[in-house]
Amino acid sequence: MTEVTVPAQAGRSATESGPMVRAEQVHKSFGPLEVLKGIDLEVRAGEVCCLLGPSGSGKSTFLRCINHLEKINAGRIWVDGELIGYREHGGKLHELREKEVAAQRRPIGMVFQRFNLFPHMTVLQNIVEAPVLVGRARKAEARDRAAQLLERVGLGDKLQAYPGQLSGGQQQRVAIARALAMQPKLMLFDEPTSALDPELVGEVLDVMKDLARDGMTMIVVTHEIGFAREVGDSLVFMDGGVVVEQGDPRAVIADPKHERTKAFLAKVL
Ligand code: ADP
Ligand code: MG
Repeated sequence: MTEVTVPAQAGRSATESGPMVRAEQVHKSFGPLEVLKGIDLEVRAGEVCCLLGPSGSGKSTFLRCINHLEKINAGRIWVDGELIGYREHGGKLHELREKEVAAQRRPIGMVFQRFNLFPHMTVLQNIVEAPVLVGRARKAEARDRAAQLLERVGLGDKLQAYPGQLSGGQQQRVAIARALAMQPKLMLFDEPTSALDPELVGEVLDVMKDLARDGMTMIVVTHEIGFAREVGDSLVFMDGGVVVEQGDPRAVIADPKHERTKAFLAKVL
């Protein structure tokens, strides 16, 4: 077999030929409440996977399981070929130590509905904080990179602003830049535009589209059907803790097969 060299691209692993994310029979309960009832999912490197489903269907929980913010009760999740949260030894799973989990989380960026910026820090400080603390980047380097990232999300003139001085859309773009500062290979978005005034949604989606074009692997929980149709490589519809239907976003949106998908789409379209 001939060896193929894959050029390194933003967000892609140059070495792995397997999926960027693989979930196998993921189960998660909170006490007696079973929230995830056996989720199987694969997301290839460079793919944008849009995760849709009614409120309470387990979307946020699933995203949080991917970076081990929630411990799963059964099943397995791999990111870039690495088993998340556990080490397999002698046919048994042993939980990783805090430090090892932190190392697994580092290349997984997460953006939430609420922007979660540090209010007492400038935009620049917000972005530089994590790479310097966690990634041990040099301060000057981290600053240069932060400035570049802010330029990229259209906020090159807001380095010294405080979050409170920015609109929701601007704050969310800072939050995206902050996640990117850790040079993630995977980005998880949990309803990133749901808390925004309608007129600010577009600017955030534009940044996400730009990221997608650049080859970033993304899982996006969203009710923005237009985004899913335009940018999504796959659409996964969840309801009641299971994947009800999945496929090409344009096909699923135009012609949903399952009653629950139809009912959901009829509400959000
Ligand atoms: P979605 O993001 O699809 O709206 P969630 O994953 O947030 O759904 O929640 C799924 C279900 O799990 C809901 O019933 C929610 O109340 C419950 N849930 C989520 N997190 C917790 C928690 N930490 N403790 C108890 N129940 C939770
Ligand atoms: Mg949610």
